[in-house]
Amino acid sequence: MSDCIFCKIANGEIPSNTIFENDNFRVILDNGPATKGHALVLPKAHYANLFEIPEDVVAEAAKVAKTVAGTMKEKLACDGLNLVQNNGETAGQTVLHFHLHIIPRYKDDGQHILWKPTSPSAEELAEIKNQIIG
Ligand code: AMP
Ligand code: ZN
Repeated sequence: MSDCIFCKIANGEIPSNTIFENDNFRVILDNGPATKGHALVLPKAHYANLFEIPEDVVAEAAKVAKTVAGTMKEKLACDGLNLVQNNGETAGQTVLHFHLHIIPRYKDDGQHILWKPTSPSAEELAEIKNQIIG
């Protein structure tokens, strides 16, 4: 995609703070980080989101995230880590090129990656289950 900023970053046309690279991925530091070390796993090929990315590519993204997560733990001494991946504007996706957030977490870092729990009845849950598997 010629006008996609993450295509340009992933393929090295725009400079970035790269912390990992292989043939298919580049991992960069997010320029608006939630915490110290917040990084983005970018496939070099353009896929808009989880619905479009092929299974083998997303599986490799998970492996890359695992590698980088280990590095974060070792080098940044994070206490925890969130993987976040947004799909579609409704879900908070602002750049429409698949990316996986790696967010190291530190005690008292003041960040919250939470949703507000709801309280469906047992019948409502069963209905949803049936809608999904039916
Ligand atoms: P999302 O809301 O899941 O689409 O996340 C997009 C992320 O990309 C945000 O966390 C931004 O801070 C980050 N971002 C946007 N443009 C750049 C850029 N040029 N370099 C690094 N990170 C970026
Ligand atoms: Zn792209």
